[in-house]
Amino acid sequence: MVDPSSGVEKNSVTFSSLGLSDPLVKAVAEQQYTTPYPIQKEAIPPILRGKDILGIAKTGSGKTASFVLPILELFHRTKTVGGRYASVLVLVPTRELAGQVAGVFQELGVHLFPKVKTVAVYGGVSINPQMQAVYGADIIVATPGRLLDLLDQNALRLSDVEILVLDEADKMLELGFADEMDRIFDLLPKKRQTILFSATLGDAIQHINATLLRSPTKIEVVEEATNLDLIEQIAYKTEPERKGPLLRYLIKTGQMKQVLVFVSSTRTADNLVVKLNKNGIQAAAIHGQKGQNIRTDVLHQFKAGKLTVLVATDLLARGIDIQLLPYVINFELPRSPKDYVHRIGRTGRAEATGKAISLITPDDQHHFKIIQKKMGKRVEQIDTAELDLHGY
Ligand code: AMP
Repeated sequence: MVDPSSGVEKNSVTFSSLGLSDPLVKAVAEQQYTTPYPIQKEAIPPILRGKDILGIAKTGSGKTASFVLPILELFHRTKTVGGRYASVLVLVPTRELAGQVAGVFQELGVHLFPKVKTVAVYGGVSINPQMQAVYGADIIVATPGRLLDLLDQNALRLSDVEILVLDEADKMLELGFADEMDRIFDLLPKKRQTILFSATLGDAIQHINATLLRSPTKIEVVEEATNLDLIEQIAYKTEPERKGPLLRYLIKTGQMKQVLVFVSSTRTADNLVVKLNKNGIQAAAIHGQKGQNIRTDVLHQFKAGKLTVLVATDLLARGIDIQLLPYVINFELPRSPKDYVHRIGRTGRAEATGKAISLITPDDQHHFKIIQKKMGKRVEQIDTAELDLHGY
């Protein structure tokens, strides 16, 4: 994959020139990371020097590898492996992100010797296997609630933590984890390195910055503007009762092979999936009321191209890294313009272009105007009243 900014980069920075050793450089090459992304160029050197980091960046910027790589490098150089308690703690807002971030530690650490053990812990699944798994883990990637459960049950201690990472910190606060996070902060050793990533820099994040971080290196990656230019946006005007057939019509006639469809409720998600499947379109939903294993499985199938349509609610889709989606469809508009941009930003990443389609009912018109205004882009609207949807 090509980093869009690398075209204007004069001096060629490589992963090894950033200070990474051979086992990591090898793993990075196997993941087909050719050049470091801007955030990686900025974050890797100071993290290796032990600096705190305040990073303003979103999913898609390469932020995960920007902390995973230097942390693994520190293990390779000096950090003890195989102690009783973890020396790195990564806090994340959702179960999906926990699994994903732990996966990146495992993939990029594959050539390290001795092996660095990373374990993901999150709620919604039985705690017992996790109680065993955290024993002897070097890196723990956790959602705040489950981490506290494990601490309450004496399955682990935070006394050995040397590096704390807060990933998508704003999302953690938005999801109401502030109290849990404070409890966890109190249990951590005061002397440590803290790395914070957030998509936005609101008051609550400023507060964490002021209280937890020591003269951090500030890194900001603004990407949205370029992203939007890569996305072809279009809206179809429709009556609410024609939305289902219209969706199927668009998928079938557009011969779409991989579509992420956004809805606003779990119920709509399930209904939609039933109807799509009835009409011969392979679809599945992920939302908060599905068990963790099902969610992981569905995501896997979708990424592997075995499912045509993934129907999702905003919460679950956030932070999930599905690269280079050709199509995103807003079956229902999100409430906030920010979420709209976040949704459509799942297509048209890096050098690939994507298409974002919104189904707009007369009731949505006012809200859609606001979204377009906030985004600073007008979206063409096509009337579908005359369209024959018979048989869809
Ligand atoms: P993130 O922002 O951490 O969710 O990463 C977004 C995506 O970019 C992931 O799929 C990574 O595998 C990919 N990625 C991260 N760094 C690079 C890089 N330097 N070159 C190519 N792809 C990358």
